[in-house]
Amino acid sequence: MECYYCKGDLKEGKVPYFIKRKGYQLIIENVPAYVCQQCGEHLFRGEEVDLIQDIISELEARIREVEQRTLVLHSPLQPLQPTVTRE
Ligand SMILES: [Zn+2]
Repeated sequence: MECYYCKGDLKEGKVPYFIKRKGYQLIIENVPAYVCQQCGEHLFRGEEVDLIQDIISELEARIREVEQRTLVLHSPLQPLQPTVTRE
């Protein structure tokens, strides 16, 4: 297979997928993709694109759920680590 952009050689690899939308950012670190050995461009298969779109629509529904909540007094409080962890 050759690159859609430069006709270079495509090799199987894994690349990060990053999306920034209103209210959240998402990084999926190791998405299988074809990576151009010449220009570095990457192409995802339809399967991975569909899966990522499913993840995003589910995630957005859940995020809206969180954002629309209101704080009610007297609920028990608990900490949730807000930081990003990196190995
Ligand atoms: Zn290319």
